[in-house]
Amino acid sequence: MTEEEAFEFVKHTLKEERITPYRKDEIEIVHSVEDCINCGLCINHCPVVAAIGVDRFTGPRSIAVELSRSPPEFWSTADKVYLCTGCGTCREVCPKNVNIPEVVNLVRARIFKHRPDLVPKGLHVVREIITKYNLAFEPWEDPEEKVESRDVRLERLGIPYIEDIIKTGAEVLFYPGCQAEELAQEVREAAKVVLSYFDVDFTLIDEMSCCGLPSELMGDDETSRKLSALLKGKVEALGIKKVVTTCAGCTSMLSKISQRDNWDIPIYHMVEYLVEEVGLVQISEALGSTSEFSDVTVTVHDPCHLIRHTSRRTMEDAIEILKAINGVKIVISEAEDSCCGGGGLVAYHSKDVANAVVQENLVAINKTGADRILAPCPLCTAQIEANLFRSGSSVEVDDLMVFIAKRLPKK
Ligand code: SF4
Ligand code: SF4
Repeated sequence: MTEEEAFEFVKHTLKEERITPYRKDEIEIVHSVEDCINCGLCINHCPVVAAIGVDRFTGPRSIAVELSRSPPEFWSTADKVYLCTGCGTCREVCPKNVNIPEVVNLVRARIFKHRPDLVPKGLHVVREIITKYNLAFEPWEDPEEKVESRDVRLERLGIPYIEDIIKTGAEVLFYPGCQAEELAQEVREAAKVVLSYFDVDFTLIDEMSCCGLPSELMGDDETSRKLSALLKGKVEALGIKKVVTTCAGCTSMLSKISQRDNWDIPIYHMVEYLVEEVGLVQISEALGSTSEFSDVTVTVHDPCHLIRHTSRRTMEDAIEILKAINGVKIVISEAEDSCCGGGGLVAYHSKDVANAVVQENLVAINKTGADRILAPCPLCTAQIEANLFRSGSSVEVDDLMVFIAKRLPKK
């Protein structure tokens, strides 16, 4: 039987089950699963399996197998496929390069399209917010309250406020991402302070809109593509030459869509931009001259979206920047590159799972004896901070950009 004949044969069943055939790019992902040699390495390294056990989360290999299931069995994967944090550890350790995180996205996309009733309710709430505001978080109802909250945070941290600049023809677009735009405003402001200090010609975006990652993660490809097209239009209208962001998730998503949709401009995480474009010499001169802070021992957290979805180099750059700061001692956490549980939208419907995943990090952070943990991503920072606080730990948490901005000399 030829492929066409086989398709004709099953077409009726597909229609009955409301299944559409795979697209060409999806077929490549499906085929990658056929390379699996059942070695089990991915299961041994999956942080969700380690945190909640294989009874509740059967693990990466089993998710991959779901792709070959018949429709009714396929729908039954919904109870576990939403528990994957998308950390990418399975892909990293897989000797056959099976792309499990993409398989997860593919399964979620099919469930979203054909059986939206099986998508966790928490994700439908996020979707409604995105559809209404083009942002992953509900904007502040009262803009004055938002400003007040920002100013209180900045005052507490000792970071100055710099007016927003929105202009065409700047060298760099600073894209804060939804979280820093609406919740972690201090990260957005800290980045502006750092860029201004090093005389970077930058602009912000007029009316922030989401990069599309949360939509992609819930399986809503249509909205994700709509958002990336909207953003591309804004980027083109601004005529900028580079995009810089402070969010690990935005860095990986923007890198992906800029390649896919031919943006023809490089995407940087701020850490990467500072080292590559400003230079360690200038950074060391600025940060090595501050003496008003007492000595501090820090440890770092490596966001999955940087080290496993973008490049491990960014965290090496982060360490180089920290070494340049006066009075900073760096200690390495045993779980430095373990997933914090904050990804994959898991916390929106199964907070207990997200919080179980971060426990390994908390134990390791406390063991380092550090005063402070730093992460170059507002999502990881929030997840670690909330859980450290709940556990009664005295270790403080900062987004890396906030830590740097605080220590820049006043100009
Ligand atoms: S991406 Fe991470 S959480 Fe998801 S299956 Fe792979 S190792 Fe597990
Ligand atoms: S690590 Fe790769 S080859 Fe080994 S079981 Fe997992 S998916 Fe298959």
